[in-house]
Amino acid sequence: MRSIFLILLIISAGSTIAQRKIVESIQSSVTARESEAHLSFLASDEMRGRDTGSPEIDIAANYIKTQLKIYGAKPVPGDTTYFQPVQLEKIVAASAASLTIGADVFKLKDDLLYISGGSTSLNGEMVYVGYGLPSDFEKADVKGKIVVALAGSNATTNAVQALLTDSPAKGKVAASHGAAAFIEIMMLPGLPWQSLVNFLSAERMMTQKQSQTTMPHLYMKKSDAASISAFIESKKGIGRLQVEAKAPESIPAKNVAGMIEGKDPVLKKEWIVISAHYDHVGVKKNASPDSIFNGARDNAVGTVALLQAAKFFGQHSPKRSILFLAVTGEEKGLLGSEWYSTHPLIPLNQTVFNYNCDGAGYNDKTIATLIDLKRTSVDELLKKACATFGLELKGDPAPEQNLYERSDNLNFAAKGVPAVDIAPGIKTFDKELFKYYHQPSDEVHSLDMSYIEKFHRSFVYGGYLIANEKERPTWVKGDKFEEVGKKLYGTK
Ligand SMILES: [Zn+2]
Repeated sequence: MRSIFLILLIISAGSTIAQRKIVESIQSSVTARESEAHLSFLASDEMRGRDTGSPEIDIAANYIKTQLKIYGAKPVPGDTTYFQPVQLEKIVAASAASLTIGADVFKLKDDLLYISGGSTSLNGEMVYVGYGLPSDFEKADVKGKIVVALAGSNATTNAVQALLTDSPAKGKVAASHGAAAFIEIMMLPGLPWQSLVNFLSAERMMTQKQSQTTMPHLYMKKSDAASISAFIESKKGIGRLQVEAKAPESIPAKNVAGMIEGKDPVLKKEWIVISAHYDHVGVKKNASPDSIFNGARDNAVGTVALLQAAKFFGQHSPKRSILFLAVTGEEKGLLGSEWYSTHPLIPLNQTVFNYNCDGAGYNDKTIATLIDLKRTSVDELLKKACATFGLELKGDPAPEQNLYERSDNLNFAAKGVPAVDIAPGIKTFDKELFKYYHQPSDEVHSLDMSYIEKFHRSFVYGGYLIANEKERPTWVKGDKFEEVGKKLYGTK
């Protein structure tokens, strides 16, 4: 008994000493001085706000690649560049559109909004497919027809999911079934038509989807017109759809990716993707006197967290393998991570976790914010990591804002990969936060570097703990993404 107890004591003392060594090496590796140096480059005025598609964001990409290389990260197998080309397209709003059913004419902006697909002139059969779920398309004959569906996947779908997730997915299914055009009727609670008009009347970017580029996709305002009710009731009708829109312009963009292989012969087959978006919103002409949106908080801080992690893991190989992924086009709609999730560099079923770093700024320097707690099994590890450097880890301060689905972690989660986003501390959405959030004032000199140092150290230690933990991360039981995770990994 006694000797076993003694051995246990020695083992646990040994592991405490090892832990202390790791914490000490994080302290000497991750410093405010170095974080500030990276930040001052990435968020400088010369970077002109790292707008996706701009020449300056390519300079930022080159900088990130160079740092990854210095730190010892390698390009993924088959690549030598550290770049993943991302095919984006710029969509210009339609100049005209109308849908005519009998005597009713529905017009652009008043009732119709153009999403994608270019010009068309169709006159013929219309078919109604309910919410346009894959099973609805199996039942209906949509080939060559104007297909109409309700937006979202059921009566309670929230707007973000309906617009960002359901809509592109349904457009794809409609196109693959040979639909001539696809119109979604907006009946979502809490989404005023006018906000959609504002959003879709401006230039936008999307990832290029071959199957979808030539099928016009539109939104339609909820209508009480008799022609619409009759059409929905009978599920078929005749209509004329005209759209005048410029063909989309292709925009070259890139994600930056480097890897550090794990040292454990078994666990190295399990990959963790450490991600952060490196784009921001660029320059706005009418903002004065400062027109450059530097994006120090959003998201140079996250990008530098990724670089600091690469530096540390380059010196201290973890058991699991790590892919460092700086993604583009987040501000345009999570586009770089969307592209990655459909063109992964490491198979997603070998990717066990996505550790994303993206924040909106901070207004509480005693905490770090996890979006969200109680989603995956890593909470305790991350709480410990933060506590080690004097921060308390808190969860989502504003669940009603759906923050989990507003950064790149969503694109991993949607494929089933357990994912979280960690950010500098947000107590609540207040004036202090909006003073910098997506403002020209989001500059490096306004950051408290001793707080950023704590945050970066916590981030790196959290990644270290996750990458070395015996058990791989999992979804919390009952999570929204648990089922798709089971499918991805083939577990029960
Ligand atoms: Zn961001």
